[in-house]
Amino acid sequence: MKVYLDNAATTPVDQEVFDAMIPVLKDGFGNPSSTHAFGRKIKSLIERSRKNVAKHLNCTPGEIFFTSGGTEADNMALRCAVGDCGITHIITSTIEHHAVVHTVEMLVEKGLVKVSYVDLDEKGQVDLEHLESLLASNPNTLVSLMHANNEIGNLLPLERVSELCAQYNALFHSDTVQTMAHYPYDMQALDKVHFMVCSAHKFHGPKGIGFLYVKKDIQMKPLIHGGSQERNMRGGTENVYGIVGLSKALDIAHRDMDEHQEHITALKSYMIDQLRASIPGVKFNGYSDNLARSLYTVLSVSLPATDIASMLLFNLDIYGIACSGGSACTSGANTGSHVLTGINAPVERPTVRFSFSRFNTIEEIDYVLDCLVKLYA
Ligand code: PLP
Repeated sequence: MKVYLDNAATTPVDQEVFDAMIPVLKDGFGNPSSTHAFGRKIKSLIERSRKNVAKHLNCTPGEIFFTSGGTEADNMALRCAVGDCGITHIITSTIEHHAVVHTVEMLVEKGLVKVSYVDLDEKGQVDLEHLESLLASNPNTLVSLMHANNEIGNLLPLERVSELCAQYNALFHSDTVQTMAHYPYDMQALDKVHFMVCSAHKFHGPKGIGFLYVKKDIQMKPLIHGGSQERNMRGGTENVYGIVGLSKALDIAHRDMDEHQEHITALKSYMIDQLRASIPGVKFNGYSDNLARSLYTVLSVSLPATDIASMLLFNLDIYGIACSGGSACTSGANTGSHVLTGINAPVERPTVRFSFSRFNTIEEIDYVLDCLVKLYA
């Protein structure tokens, strides 16, 4: 049996998304910047997709900038906030995705900003009192905190944080790569969030396409210089079939969101209960086992120390089970997870991140549980 439980790393492309992209790949070869009919036809696909994305987020199409994915969108938000919006100080956390952590480090190294790291509790939750005290003592601040952590699934109270930021005139960027298309966003209600990001391959869309939402009062300059694409904000011929695929994937996610959430939450809840019943000493990282405070697609399991700890993922792989020992972006690298380090997870306990999609079944979870029990027997 092959079981794919690494959906926080990436997801399989939905058949409907594939079907929407193929005609564009086959016949839609015109350059969207060309003024002739071939180009105009393709340009209209991009603008239709942008309108559709904006409809789902209840924002204006002018607030959506297509990018190559989440990493570029995070870079664009942080670098433009610092370069173009007078930001001299960033408040972030040590457990953000590397797209944020390393961009902030680069900005600090270049002497463009100072950084403060907000305190986290023992489960990795942001200390809002500390956040407020940092905001109170630092003008010209951008807060960058992710909505859901990709390794442990902790959810940030997005609206409360956005209100705190507004109280101190701070800009707010949230890395929403793991939550976009898994939860609804209404940007009119979230009017104190300035930047949010999306990556289509996290919700059954294609890789290499995403977008940055930029609230309309923000004036930015491009990160990538070149042609006049994306209203002069991002040079480069557009990834048209990617954009069409992203738009379709977002449609499906919004059409079936409640059903998907219910199905996936049931799988996660079942796995938590069964793990507790069958593996003595099992624990969960962060708020991963708290259904109200964590992303429903992610379960970060802290297993008892064992001789086979370092071989656990390898053994699961032999059984046909794909999961992750941390963030997919660092898997394969020999360094430990900065997120697990950031929440002081015990080094001797192996962590396995199982991440689910609507295509997973209870039978698959049972198979994984059986294999884990065998490995721990
Ligand atoms: N931010 C988070 C929270 C992620 O989980 C990821 C991907 O794993 C990214 C950013 C990067 O997105 P992309 O793969 O589209 O560059």
